[in-house]
Amino acid sequence: MSTVQHLINGELVSHGGRTADLFNPSTGQVIGQVELADRATVQQAIDAAKAAFPAWRNTPAAKRAQVMFRFKQLLEQHEAAIAQLISTEHGKTLEDAAGELKRGIENVEFACAAPEILKGEYSRNVGPNIDAWSDFQPLGIVAGITPFNFPAMVPLWMYPLAIVCGNAFILKPSERDPSSTLYIARLLEEAGLPKGILSVVHGDKDAVDALIEAPEVKALSFVGSTPIAEYIYAEGTRRGKRVQALGGAKNHAVLMPDAELDNAVSALMGAAYGSCGERCMAISVAVCVGDAIADALIAKLEPQIKALKIGAGTACGLDMGPLVTAAARDKVVGYIDEGVAAGAQLVVDGRGYRVAGHEEGYFVGGTLFDGVTPKMRIYKEEIFGPVLCVVRVGSLEEALQLINAHEYGNGTCIFTRDGEAARLFCDEVEVGMVGVNVPLPVPVSYHSFGGWKRSLFGDLHAYGPDGVRFYTRRKAITQRWPQRKTHEASQFAFPSL
Ligand code: NAD
Repeated sequence: MSTVQHLINGELVSHGGRTADLFNPSTGQVIGQVELADRATVQQAIDAAKAAFPAWRNTPAAKRAQVMFRFKQLLEQHEAAIAQLISTEHGKTLEDAAGELKRGIENVEFACAAPEILKGEYSRNVGPNIDAWSDFQPLGIVAGITPFNFPAMVPLWMYPLAIVCGNAFILKPSERDPSSTLYIARLLEEAGLPKGILSVVHGDKDAVDALIEAPEVKALSFVGSTPIAEYIYAEGTRRGKRVQALGGAKNHAVLMPDAELDNAVSALMGAAYGSCGERCMAISVAVCVGDAIADALIAKLEPQIKALKIGAGTACGLDMGPLVTAAARDKVVGYIDEGVAAGAQLVVDGRGYRVAGHEEGYFVGGTLFDGVTPKMRIYKEEIFGPVLCVVRVGSLEEALQLINAHEYGNGTCIFTRDGEAARLFCDEVEVGMVGVNVPLPVPVSYHSFGGWKRSLFGDLHAYGPDGVRFYTRRKAITQRWPQRKTHEASQFAFPSL
């Protein structure tokens, strides 16, 4: 069994300190260990970044972009190996793992446009012989802390853009599935990134706290659960850092009475049960406007949920793999128990799901509740498992009130053929990412990703144009070249035309 090491200054390093076990969630077996960084290890990454930053900052943006072009090619060449690593440690299916990588590569493609996206603004002759321009300059050393559920894509939301903007980056991936993240980072070195510009330190709270407390780290990008997002935002901003912290979610899909049902059902199946519900954009609540659509929806969902193909993520042709850890499985089962106790109607029960030959795997079958009310914990809290709750309401306005009253506001969607209803929904819903007949409205890389309310702490969303703003600071330069033969007298009034 091997130990996943840190990547610091272009070298794999091991400090022989604490480690954590890595599991294959499909078998429940320990398959390796990962190092857990202490403060000295984090400082080593910071020192490497400090030394590498000045030269990288002054490397032309077009040269920095060329590294990203090569990186994109390498990622595509290594897709199968990366998907295998993701699937083995996370449990998601190989197809789903390849899909997350493709969405990650989109962000590398966006970073390839660095010379264009970093172009400043210029105004000639803003005063006599005076020109002005504004420039986007890198922050210095920035850090990213990422969750287990997208070990390839979420880090790729962050460091390609941060690095192409001229920063040095320290990544602290999830300690539950770090291998694909490390593999990908090494490809960026192979693509020609100078040593020290990207380091990967594995670890837990100790490593994260060391990054938060280090004065050299100027900004933190975080993606994970809401309590940790809030903690990192509070502690980071208290120390004067720029922080964007993306948190948890409870995403509602509204089904209007005129929804095209078969398409809505297909969309909901993928959005609720894909990746075993372990997606921050997963649909976990179906809000049915009227009993007729609710009854019709449940009649179509029930047999499809019972027919889900579930097995080891690395097997081919499956719909769903296991949950990531035994603790995650127990938590999801606990929520199902609680929903039953609270009086929700359990239409499909995924508890006790067994996969032949994988009896120790962390499997939960697709689960469906009807008659869920806003007071129930299964409605209020993020379950992060293959559990869909149906809530029945009387009107679109009631659906909007329900969604807007929820503490989270990451994603949502509406299924309808009524343009007026869709437009009202888009205008009034208090959620950051909205789909119209699109169940997982994850923005493409040239838009930005972010929720509202307790799904995001900070002002700027992740990647895309907001990402460029987050990883750069603006400098406004005003320049005068006096003509040699003229002498201008001092002006004591505030300068104006
Ligand atoms: P998590 O919050 O447990 O962990 C995220 C990161 O924080 C990991 O790197 C982890 O090591 C670190 N961490 C954990 N505990 C910490 C502590 N006490 N102090 C400092 N750092 C700590 O999240 P997770 O279980 O890995 O991921 C699932 C969560 O992430 C879900 O809530 C999901 O909705 C959310 N998520 C959100 C988005 C989004 O874009 N909004 C995207 C993906 C996942």
